[in-house]
Amino acid sequence: MKVGLFGSSGIRGLVNADLTPVLAVKVGLAVGTFIGAGKVFVARDTRVSGIMLENAVASGLMACGVEVHRLGVFPTPVLAYLTKSAGADAGLMITASHNPPQYNGVKVFDREGLAYDEEKQSQIESIIKEEKFVPADWRNLGKEVIEGIDCQAYLEMIQENVQLNRKWKIIVDPGCGATSLIAPTIFKNLGCNVVPINAQYDGYFPGRSPEPNADSLKFLAKVVKEFGADFGVAYDGDGDRVAFVDENGVFVDFDRVLAAYAAYVLEKVGGIIVTTVEASMIFDRMVESRGGKVVRTKVGDVYIAKAIKEFGAVFGGEPCGAWIHPKLHYCPDGILSSVLLLKALEEKEESLSEFVSQVPIYAITRKSVPCKDQNKKEAVIKVKELLEEIFPDYKQLSTVDGVLMKLTDSWILVRASGTEPLVRITVESESLKTAKEIMEKVSVIVNRAVEDLEK
Ligand code: MG
Repeated sequence: MKVGLFGSSGIRGLVNADLTPVLAVKVGLAVGTFIGAGKVFVARDTRVSGIMLENAVASGLMACGVEVHRLGVFPTPVLAYLTKSAGADAGLMITASHNPPQYNGVKVFDREGLAYDEEKQSQIESIIKEEKFVPADWRNLGKEVIEGIDCQAYLEMIQENVQLNRKWKIIVDPGCGATSLIAPTIFKNLGCNVVPINAQYDGYFPGRSPEPNADSLKFLAKVVKEFGADFGVAYDGDGDRVAFVDENGVFVDFDRVLAAYAAYVLEKVGGIIVTTVEASMIFDRMVESRGGKVVRTKVGDVYIAKAIKEFGAVFGGEPCGAWIHPKLHYCPDGILSSVLLLKALEEKEESLSEFVSQVPIYAITRKSVPCKDQNKKEAVIKVKELLEEIFPDYKQLSTVDGVLMKLTDSWILVRASGTEPLVRITVESESLKTAKEIMEKVSVIVNRAVEDLEK
């Protein structure tokens, strides 16, 4: 966290190294100062450090006269939804999302349930840096409220919007994260036959990594196949991301299921769809062929949510499994996404593999190059110059986030990771051979740029 306190998903760091209780108190003080008293909801995922940081954040908030409602373990989207529906002035989520167990973080939502954008983040950051805290008089310290807020309003929202007729057989894998209790309950409420795995709170994440991907979901894939289930679903540590396994026990590619769902939304209502620079170009093909329009933002759900609001978009999502359904709320919501996908399958009378099969397969290769946080931005600028030299016939160049270069049947994206000391490279092409060839060239360039800076 040397560059700035906030990354693309809030404050994130290694517990007791970057993210200490001292910093957490300051975050509480800063948010309390920023909103000026009022009522704040605080929730956490299942991480071991969650309670320690929650206590610290709550302490800072109360010092500024904020009434703190401690919700306990809740998924991020549920916290965001309740912040809006129960009329809190802000929601603070203690989570490091999909990062390993030794990390934690804080994400802040406003009273609309919208994550703090860059402007609000930089205001919080400057209050912390300059220690411009405004503590309350001792008579007006904030109260702590522990009881009273449950997830009923969220459960009702799901029930009002999703009804299923078929008795789907589903394997749910919350990975011991914040969705462990609520996700299986919701599927049961919808009449599904549910088999939960890794569905107990455990901050060591013993079952699998908090990041759902093809590798960490091998066990889920096996269980889906052995149980003959219709569908396997998994969430990240805090439940804003979702990943799927189809009825054959095959991990469903993130980009393809996102593009397929976007196409489904467009067929129903039409309009604008938002994604980030990182999403596959199949996204544009699927959306544009249905008369829709794609808006691309910087990587980070904060930017997607903001663009959805600005452009009045009907759906938005990132290929990491963070999907936003603006009709219901503006926080990426893994649970909501999974029940809405089931509803889509039911409407289309398709299995998950059939639903996704309409999306063409492009070869996409991704690679990360380690790079010190303080050098990441400069490395990407250098890479842009080198790319222009090596691919002088490029079709389009965008710097909305990192450098995105379109070639005839391929595209290249090189960007600084918002959460880790890495430069990320994505290359996509209609053929794997071409993608690999381009990736090889780009890797050399990125490595050279990083080495020059770290000499
Ligand atoms: Mg997350």
